[in-house]
Amino acid sequence: MTTKLGTALITGASSGIGAIYADRLSRRGYDLILVARNEALLNALAKRLTDETGRSIEVVVADLGAKADLARVEDILRTDASITLLVNNAGIGATRPLLESNIDKLDDLIALNVNAVTRLTYAAIPGFVARGGGALINIASIVAIAPEVLNGVYGASKAFVLAFSQSLHSELKDHNVRVQVVLPGATATDFWAASGKPVEQLPSAIVMNAEDMVDAALAGLDLGEFVTIPALPDIADLDAYEAARQKLLPNLSSSVPATRYTG
Ligand code: NAP
Repeated sequence: MTTKLGTALITGASSGIGAIYADRLSRRGYDLILVARNEALLNALAKRLTDETGRSIEVVVADLGAKADLARVEDILRTDASITLLVNNAGIGATRPLLESNIDKLDDLIALNVNAVTRLTYAAIPGFVARGGGALINIASIVAIAPEVLNGVYGASKAFVLAFSQSLHSELKDHNVRVQVVLPGATATDFWAASGKPVEQLPSAIVMNAEDMVDAALAGLDLGEFVTIPALPDIADLDAYEAARQKLLPNLSSSVPATRYTG
């Protein structure tokens, strides 16, 4: 049975941040489509949430870094008219500098963090527009604006998510399609161990627990925020950052070079 809220498709829902979105969105009344590779974890989560919330929860086992699997999920987004929310959450990290990195692993990172996000978004949005609305939550990272902190390809992949979201936010505002981009700081999940730096090695003062992070991000959604940075104490700092960007915009393109380059 379709709810009034419709169905949320969440990528990377088998663990960490994605699994908590699944929990919270099902309690808000969304039906769910949970996507990731680990079938056992997805099934266990789907069973628990169905038992606890009574919502309809479907599991789709897919490796979003693999073209055929990605195409299957794109097809679901194109054809299932009950879908009203896409959460692009699946992502992998990298913590080592260029000289210690494996380019093939970084290629996999780009496939998931950039290519899958792009293709899934392009699959979902036309249906949202045709049906008169929908919502997109993209999980970026604070490294989108602080790429010096971890591996630069990971930071650049999240800068892509931020820039892509920014463009969609502007492009889709007249189509009743909500876009939110979330920039978590360090969050206690398996992400860190998988990225080569166990979370225990980080100072505990900068690590948020994943439940608090997702609850803050959803509070940001409820507040109507476009960019949500769960850890940022003072929203005025983000507003000032955006104001500085807006101030640059009218002056970035001109028929003449700036005088400092022409003597
Ligand atoms: P996580 O616990 O490692 O979860 C990652 C999720 O992505 C898992 O469900 C994993 O499931 C799925 N996934 C990984 N590779 C996949 C693939 N090829 N195809 C489909 N699903 C795949 O990490 P997390 O912290 O929750 O990360 C979620 C998002 O938050 C990521 O985009 C990450 O960049 C972002 N983020 C995390 C932090 C942090 O500190 N943890 C900070 C900022 C941003 P399977 O293994 O079952 O496929």
